[in-house]
Amino acid sequence: MSDLPTAGDSGWSDPDTLGAIPPVRTVTYCGYCGESASKKSHVLCRQRLEVEPPKMCTTCRRQLTVEKTADGWVAQCKKHGETSGTITRA
Ligand SMILES: [Zn+2]
Ligand SMILES: [Zn+2]
Repeated sequence: MSDLPTAGDSGWSDPDTLGAIPPVRTVTYCGYCGESASKKSHVLCRQRLEVEPPKMCTTCRRQLTVEKTADGWVAQCKKHGETSGTITRA
């Protein structure tokens, strides 16, 4: 019981641990509802995102800290830093 092989332990963590996220921003999740971007069309979400800031990081699905600015918003993800956008007023 002392010489167990470790071949199965490749160091690639399970996506839920949020530890192995590459520094590239990919839109994996919907910034509005947080569901997989490819899972459904998110048409309504995209409409909402034109008039209000996103709630979720599109890369890691963490909740964003959102600050409203004069013409839009600045959102901060703990892992991916700052993103900003503008809000289209009706
Ligand atoms: Zn959505
Ligand atoms: Zn993130």
